[in-house]
Amino acid sequence: KNTGSNVVQNKIPDEGGEGDGDKVDLAEQSLLNKLIRHSLVKNRNQVEVQQADPNSPLFSVKTFQELRLKPELLQGVFNMGFNRPSRIQENALPLMLAEPHQNLIAQSQSGTGKTAAFSLAMLSHVNPDNTWTQCLCVAPTYELALQIGQVIEQMGKFCPSVKLAYAIRGNRMDRRVKLQEHIVIGTPGTILDWCTKYKLIDPKKITMFVLDEADVMIAMQGHRDQSIRIHRLLNKNCQMLLFSATFEDSVMKFAERVIPDPNIIRLKREEETLDTIKQFYVLCREKEDKFTALCNLYGCLTIAQAMIFCHTRKMAGWLACSLIKEGHQVALLSGEMAVEQRAAVIERFKNGREKVLVTTNVCSRGIDVEQVSLVVNFDLPVDVEGNADNETYLHRIGRTGRFGRRGFAVNMVDSENSMEIIKQIEMHFSEISF
Ligand code: ADP
Repeated sequence: KNTGSNVVQNKIPDEGGEGDGDKVDLAEQSLLNKLIRHSLVKNRNQVEVQQADPNSPLFSVKTFQELRLKPELLQGVFNMGFNRPSRIQENALPLMLAEPHQNLIAQSQSGTGKTAAFSLAMLSHVNPDNTWTQCLCVAPTYELALQIGQVIEQMGKFCPSVKLAYAIRGNRMDRRVKLQEHIVIGTPGTILDWCTKYKLIDPKKITMFVLDEADVMIAMQGHRDQSIRIHRLLNKNCQMLLFSATFEDSVMKFAERVIPDPNIIRLKREEETLDTIKQFYVLCREKEDKFTALCNLYGCLTIAQAMIFCHTRKMAGWLACSLIKEGHQVALLSGEMAVEQRAAVIERFKNGREKVLVTTNVCSRGIDVEQVSLVVNFDLPVDVEGNADNETYLHRIGRTGRFGRRGFAVNMVDSENSMEIIKQIEMHFSEISF
């Protein structure tokens, strides 16, 4: 039986507290998302545009051709398999490419085409004949900077004269010899060093400044201040672009502080619903009993793909082992795995190599569960205080879109406490009943 304090203790190693561990997770989560995503996230919401100058005409494009890009850049875009701009790109691209230049704050969930959009803007912006750094792009981590760089390199494949450098720790440069690369992308600390200490970049010559993943950035110790310091070195008339996956007050406050006269583009995340999901609970005594109940669902597990959520790493490990002993093909996502390993596990599961994925909350955030038709809450989702975590419940089980695929959710109830939690969840989503 779990006491309240036990719940909290069990939670800390995997779920992270409110300390730095949790904050680093945001960057990891973002990287994981990028590693497992191969296409745009569907979003049928309308884009909201708030113009810096409400009297100027509002441009949006339906094709890449309308942007009048350099032919070799357009070729690069098509070569990536992009046929038409994504929702957010329809508005963001013409704004970013407009003359005279305009500043932009853009928010949309990950996977909606932000990175591709500002990569295109940077490639289009630089004049390759000018052999100095013209675009600076700041990202929260080394790995995320590399991801962006890969997009730029791919998109700029037919623009070989445009050069790119990575301002990341360990990338040593000759001091005081100015870089000739047109685009520099990196983490805030190293970019700041390159501008000030090593004088590799003249910040006054930067004409486009991109701040990616602003929400992750401001959550990371030091990154926020370093970004502001870089920003201060720039000319007032440098074009400023800021991107974020979320739109909390703290992000907007920061955004409006660093981006003067911004145009603001937002694409709200599609709401998840429980409409098409049949939900059940199973009364059990302890974990062995829950395991037996799970094995009795075996029929379902073989016809469909299932995700099973546990509260702790330890429980997830135990459950995966037990299922394997029973002869199931099971994948385990666990917090101690490196992010690349986690991406590989998710990839295999997505390709149907394993039918069952056992995971904890932290590991599975952001995983698209479209093809999963059974979700099992082996442990019910609770917050740090041990109360029902309705939001996580919805993320685990809900589907986006009114015509989302049907599915089943099975909740294991193993104590009076968890009965109470399932009741809280039921009350919260009052339209559902178990
Ligand atoms: P974000 O930065 O918002 O997370 P990305 O720019 O990384 O989104 O795009 C998500 C995925 O969609 C990537 O795999 C990317 O290659 C792809 N993508 C981006 N723009 C388009 C487009 N216009 N058409 C098709 N695929 C696109």
